[in-house]
Amino acid sequence: MTTNTKVVGRLAPSPTGAQHLGNARTYLIAWLSARSQGGRMVLRIEDIDASRVRPGAIESAIDDLRWLGLHWDGELIVQTQRVNAHRDALDRLKALELVYPCTCTRSDIERAASAPHAENEGPIYPGLCAHRRASDAESLAPRPFAWRMRTTNEAIPFDDGLRGPVALNLHQIGGDFVVWKNDDSPAYQLAVVVDDADAGVTEVIRGDDLIPSTPRQLLLYRALGHDAPKFVHVPLVIDEDARRLAKRHGDTRLSLLREAGVAPEAVLGLLAWSCGWIDEVVPIRSVDLLGRYRLDAIPREPFVLTREILTKIGFPA
Ligand code: GLU
Ligand code: ZN
Repeated sequence: MTTNTKVVGRLAPSPTGAQHLGNARTYLIAWLSARSQGGRMVLRIEDIDASRVRPGAIESAIDDLRWLGLHWDGELIVQTQRVNAHRDALDRLKALELVYPCTCTRSDIERAASAPHAENEGPIYPGLCAHRRASDAESLAPRPFAWRMRTTNEAIPFDDGLRGPVALNLHQIGGDFVVWKNDDSPAYQLAVVVDDADAGVTEVIRGDDLIPSTPRQLLLYRALGHDAPKFVHVPLVIDEDARRLAKRHGDTRLSLLREAGVAPEAVLGLLAWSCGWIDEVVPIRSVDLLGRYRLDAIPREPFVLTREILTKIGFPA
């Protein structure tokens, strides 16, 4: 057996909408990081939130990555096809009594939670079901229940590849969190850890809106006995009103740029310029960026995408 210390990165689009320039920027950084270290790249479709998957969005995300020249290795990984692996991990957490069945509804939680909470995070789970043991699940049926991971009141530190040391206490950002939903499907936090660990991913590069997920995932890595990858959280792309580019901002959809006749090299040039790797917005291929990629050149603030910048790549015509 040979020891494989090679870098493995991943691209993990959610087919809940179209991929836009903000997604492309994160994918480009992830791709260049792995490739510039001679690493492998896996592509995983995060379709776990099945009810929110949009028709055609998987094919479209794949076309977008090919168009940009961000190639991956091996077979495409589809998250919904990995539910057995997710379930095995849940069973291990149950055996360790690290998870408990939670029958709370949203309003139960809101009523019981006292502290104000951050908009995206929801209220801190007040531990209403934390007294339960895993085996109590048997007597709960037919009531629907989720599985929550027990958290401790301590800061979980990690060294972010771009921001440096970060430490978050899960008791201050949501408390015990859901790893299995009450519709009997895996939650993002568990699926992502199991899938990244099984694919041998060594570096996770993603938007900094996911920073609060990292301590949760680190807890799961530890509980499941896997080595955690390196985490790099990159600033998002926002529009002129300081709103984050959501998939609903139709005009930065990659498929639309493609249809408008914008060249992928023009898009890559714009993104490379936004990351500080080239001085001007000029067309460039993904492979030609390999020698220019530097993580520490990326500005720490969100990138503001203006109409004027878009016209530099001939869009809108
Ligand atoms: N699928 C997520 C997204 O598209 C990324 C999740 C992750 O990188 O962990 O926002
Ligand atoms: Zn509960």
